[in-house]
Amino acid sequence: MTSNIRVGFGFDVHRLEKGKKFILGGIEIPNEKGPTGHSDADVLIHALCDALLGAAGLRDIGFHFPNTDQQFKNIDSTLLLKKVCDLLQEKKYSIGNIDITVVLERPKVNPHTEDMKKKLSEVMNISPEQISIKATTNERMGFIGKGKGVAAYAVVLIFSL
Ligand SMILES: [Zn+2]
Repeated sequence: MTSNIRVGFGFDVHRLEKGKKFILGGIEIPNEKGPTGHSDADVLIHALCDALLGAAGLRDIGFHFPNTDQQFKNIDSTLLLKKVCDLLQEKKYSIGNIDITVVLERPKVNPHTEDMKKKLSEVMNISPEQISIKATTNERMGFIGKGKGVAAYAVVLIFSL
């Protein structure tokens, strides 16, 4: 028996502004600044959605949830992630593992990664052990280093039997 194994990669970036909520990986982290965007601007979930869609050959997040569509304004990105998982399930794909790196200077992400993994695993109906979330700074260089933005990279492996 052979299984169909595929990988996907996703990247996203959002600008940070004062007074915005910092939603990352489906949870809120207390911070003076937060990402701006059409939805709740959850950069981690957006990168993850793009990785999942890419792995399945289902285009990208902007195709499925256009930011010109009012129904996605300020939407909770966990709902988008759930929808993406439904699309993969329709194509009979299961998730192997997920590896995510978030790049930002502040706030510290590492104290929150276990909560994020728990939240994402519930949304995706997988085990937290299938999810890895890492964080790094940009060594104070560039727009991320200056605290003007946050980026996330995600790699996923999916398979069908
Ligand atoms: Zn985004």
